[in-house]
Amino acid sequence: MSLPFSVAVPTVEIVGSDDRFPVRRIFCVGRNYAEHAREMGGSPEREPPFFFSKPADALVEANADIAMPPRTANLHHEIELVVALGSGGRDIAQDRAIETIFGYAVGNDLTRRDLQADAKAAGRPWDMAKGFDASAVISPIRRADEIGHPAKARIWLTVNGEARQEGDIADMIWPVADIVAELSTYVELKAGDLIYSGTPAGVGRIVAGDLVEGGVEGVGTIANRFI
Ligand code: MN
Repeated sequence: MSLPFSVAVPTVEIVGSDDRFPVRRIFCVGRNYAEHAREMGGSPEREPPFFFSKPADALVEANADIAMPPRTANLHHEIELVVALGSGGRDIAQDRAIETIFGYAVGNDLTRRDLQADAKAAGRPWDMAKGFDASAVISPIRRADEIGHPAKARIWLTVNGEARQEGDIADMIWPVADIVAELSTYVELKAGDLIYSGTPAGVGRIVAGDLVEGGVEGVGTIANRFI
């Protein structure tokens, strides 16, 4: 007897392939660029980056129109390099970490900043601030065996053509290999995991009608209209 419904595994386009990348989990790094840590009221010298997560079905494509989410008056953009894992493990050594990486994409870690501020003030979880529907914009994935492992590349975001975020992935506090190694001490990583690696300074508000574009040089771009 079959169930009267089915549930699909979320997938992401892979550049140059008919195969799609099946997504198991989405992890995110908080405060991985010093200037962004400061703009959020933190001290990058005293507090290391940290992790949170989003549900896999929060993914939304790079060129999709996105409905303004409910329960917020302060939706924020966060442009990020996304790491896609092709294998995993526990306690992965830093110098073996890039072997687990299948490829890279560009993401926008959409955030209900007002709900996040409330959660911080109350000592409550961030899930409803970070893990809502269509909160994880992602570009098609570029394979690492085609583009290598970018360590220095411009990362940028504009709203209606106006510069908002501008940085370089070389300025991450934890580079990608450190993120994979550190995260694997908390949870076992596996193929299908995505890691949003943190955002540079300049996060800000999105309102209905905005066109939000961004990218990481050599990896990809996103362009979403908010409706
Ligand atoms: Mn983020």
